Amino acid sequence: MSTKNTNTPIIILMGPPGSGKGTQAKKLAAEFGLKHISTGDLLRALDKDTAADPGDKEALAAMKRGELVADWLIYKLAFQTIRAAFKNNQGVVLDGAIRTVEQAGEYMKFFSDMSIIDQVAVFVLDLSDEEALERLTKRRVCTQCGELISWFQETKNLTACTTCGGTLAPRADDAPAVVKERLKEQGNAALAPVLAYFEQHTTVKHLDGRPTIDKVWEALAKEYAAVFGN
Ligand code: AMP
Repeated sequence: MSTKNTNTPIIILMGPPGSGKGTQAKKLAAEFGLKHISTGDLLRALDKDTAADPGDKEALAAMKRGELVADWLIYKLAFQTIRAAFKNNQGVVLDGAIRTVEQAGEYMKFFSDMSIIDQVAVFVLDLSDEEALERLTKRRVCTQCGELISWFQETKNLTACTTCGGTLAPRADDAPAVVKERLKEQGNAALAPVLAYFEQHTTVKHLDGRPTIDKVWEALAKEYAAVFGN
C-alpha cells in the first residue's frame, strides 16, 4: 500500500461521543508530535474566558443543550489553531472537530486552499449508540483540571482526580437527558453521511472502539504507521 510520507499529517478522528476520541487523540499527539485539536475543549475554554467576544460566548448556549454549536464558531476556532500548528511545521489530530457533511466539506476546502489535502486521513472509532450512552453517563470530569476520567476506571469508587486530586463530577452535558440529545445529533445515524462523504474524498480507516484503551491504541498506532509510513 502506498503511504502518504508526510511530516505534518492531518488526522481526523471520528466516532460517536464517548468512543474514546479524546483519549486516543492525546496518545496520537504525544507519540507523533501532533497538535491535538478538540473543538469541545476549545469551546469550553471560550466559556471560561471572561475576556472573550460576547457574540462568540452567546453561541455556546447550544452546547449546553447538547446541540451542535454554529459552524462559523467551529471554523473560527479550529482553522486558526490548525494554521498556527502548520506555521510551526506541526501536524494535527482533529478530535470531534467535524460532525456534519457541511463541516466536512468546509474543512476539505480549507485543506485544499492550504494545499495540504493529500495529508488527510480519517480514523473512525466504531461504537454503538447504546455503548456510547453507557460510557458517557458513567464517566466523570475533574472540576479543577478538566481531566476526563473514563468509564474504564471505577468512577463510582473514585473520590478525587487521579491527576491533580481535584473534585470529580459528571460533565454538565453528560447528564442522561442531554446525552440522549447529543446521541440523536451526534450518534451513528448522524455520523454515517459524514463518513460516506470522507470515503469519497480521502483515506478512511475503521477501528473497533470497544476494547480497552491500550488495545484500541495498539490498533490505531499500527494503522497510522501503515498510512503515514512512520
Ligand atoms: P465534545 O467535548 O467533543 O463532546 O464536545 C462538546 C460539545 O461541543 C458538543 O456536544 C457540541 O455542542 C460542541 N461541539 C464540539 N465540536 C463541535 C463541532 N465540530 N460542531 C458543532 N458543535 C461542536
